[in-house]
Amino acid sequence: MRKLLATTTMTAAAAVALISLPIGTGTASAAPTMAEDYRIAAALVSGYWQQQAPKLYGERYVAPTNRGIIDPGTETGCGAMPKQNAAYCPKDHSVQFGRDYMELADSIGDVVVYDVVAHEWAHAVLRQQPDRVVERPQELQAECLAGGALGDLKRSGHLIVEDGDDAEFAALFRYTHAPGDKHGTAKEQATAFMAGWKSGPRACFTR
Ligand SMILES: [Zn+2]
Repeated sequence: MRKLLATTTMTAAAAVALISLPIGTGTASAAPTMAEDYRIAAALVSGYWQQQAPKLYGERYVAPTNRGIIDPGTETGCGAMPKQNAAYCPKDHSVQFGRDYMELADSIGDVVVYDVVAHEWAHAVLRQQPDRVVERPQELQAECLAGGALGDLKRSGHLIVEDGDDAEFAALFRYTHAPGDKHGTAKEQATAFMAGWKSGPRACFTR
């Protein structure tokens, strides 16, 4: 589970847009909707891990079932979807994304939609790695893998980061969690994401 308790708004200095090369739709002036950003992110991240996950420590990789964008309260394999959440459910190996949460993410910036998708997918990837390489809690490692997948997609030309450098990108990750939240502080999250973003998923495994 991942939960945003509060967010800062995106500053003008951190105006970063992730644009997908292969699936761009509409005119240049028409910003993609949240649903379009989500659809592209899921397609890219899913395809990425299908190819790359077997190269980590897992002997095989089974893609999670993607239940898509669902309304809060919808029954999932792990109970009713809470408000403001996205989740990987280990019981049925599925990912799902709360509509209200994705709209909040999109209101901060399209890059956050990509991050949420990549983060939940990372839990599905970690589930299939041997215990010895998985951190407990695994939230920062999942965030690192999210950065790793998106960074590699940038390096392979599938994603373009516009109008911002890496520092501005990191500035988007100003999530504020409750004290003691297992996701870590905003700074820890940003640091974890950037480690993967710069060097790829291998940087997320210390053992
Ligand atoms: Zn998580």
